[in-house]
Amino acid sequence: MKILVTGGAGFIGSAVIRHIIQNTQDSVVNLDKLTYAGNLESLVSVVDSDRYAFEQVDICDRAELDRVFAKHQPDAVMHLAAESHVDRSITGPAEFIQTNIVGTYTLLEAAREYWNTLGDDSKSAFRFHHISTDEVYGDLPHPDEQEGNGLDQELPLFTEQTSYAPSSPYSASKASSDHLVRAWLRTYGFPAIVTNCSNNYGPYHFPEKLIPLVILNALEGKPLPIYGKGDQIRDWLYVEDHARALYKVVTEGKVGETYNIGGHNEKQNIEVVQTICHILDAMVPKVTSYAEQITYVADRPGHDRRYAIDATKMSAELNWTPEETFETGLCKTVQWYLDNKEWCDNVQDGSYQRERLGTLAEQTEKGANI
Ligand code: NAD
Repeated sequence: MKILVTGGAGFIGSAVIRHIIQNTQDSVVNLDKLTYAGNLESLVSVVDSDRYAFEQVDICDRAELDRVFAKHQPDAVMHLAAESHVDRSITGPAEFIQTNIVGTYTLLEAAREYWNTLGDDSKSAFRFHHISTDEVYGDLPHPDEQEGNGLDQELPLFTEQTSYAPSSPYSASKASSDHLVRAWLRTYGFPAIVTNCSNNYGPYHFPEKLIPLVILNALEGKPLPIYGKGDQIRDWLYVEDHARALYKVVTEGKVGETYNIGGHNEKQNIEVVQTICHILDAMVPKVTSYAEQITYVADRPGHDRRYAIDATKMSAELNWTPEETFETGLCKTVQWYLDNKEWCDNVQDGSYQRERLGTLAEQTEKGANI
């Protein structure tokens, strides 16, 4: 199989490409614009493979997409290219509308036109796998809301049937892209599959997201920012478990289906940060605990309180479950950042220094219409 992976220089896309090159006989074409979040250094372990090719292309550029489809003739597309950071989407939503919505539309049309040129066998084997997030579902009831009501009910989880209710410009743009993909499936019979996954963590994560930011700030003696009370709950999945799940879906998943992928690891943000501090206290001890650097800051506007995935369908139908526990995955992640200081320095090119983004005060200062 030859798989066209969009966004393959990003955090999850690069894990998918490393997984495919290192564990299968398939070929990969990595199509990536190389925004601030795309780094070819995340692919050094696979670039020498004759089963790997790279195309620096924007998914909004139809002519370039047509050229890539004609040149490489892929059997499947795994679409990960996106603007992916909620705080950035609050500061500047335009890029999110452009890449996540217009870009997905442009890619769908280029892929559909190419698919229409295929012979019967190739056409029925072709897959368009759209990779999305659990954030499209909005947020779930938080345990706080259950307290004192005298009911000992299990809290609900996101299933494939949960209605969409996105809260941020990021999640709304991803929800739009999911709707476009399903419309292409229904209207044109285009062979699409959608996956919605919970928060990922692991190696090669750009240091604007919670876990890498906290590890690097801790080591540099900087404050460890906690938004609001830090009681927001996320369901954490180790990125290599996600990569394995995605490969299963593109090779064994059923056309037209949606699969929710999650880690069975609901943790409050404050718990995540404290656990990182404890791991660092053991691995790189100093006089005081890293936890003393924890600083509470104003919450993110519109911050979702709880996400949690029911991944039963993935285990029942595709025999996938995560291999890492939160503890083993987090230890591996901290160790990776300790061992890969050079990657961290190189990806932070000077334009972004782990400063806070996405506050309404910042919007007011810019004179933006809030
Ligand atoms: P990322 O920000 O690390 O990487 C995105 C990649 O897309 C980068 O390499 C970037 O250069 C590329 N890109 C951006 N705009 C592009 C464009 N116009 N044309 C071509 N390439 C472009 O993102 P990630 O965390 O790896 O997420 C990948 C996908 O998975 C996204 O669609 C995201 O919504 C989804 N997802 C992420 C998470 C998570 O926790 N990170 C969870 C669930 C789903």
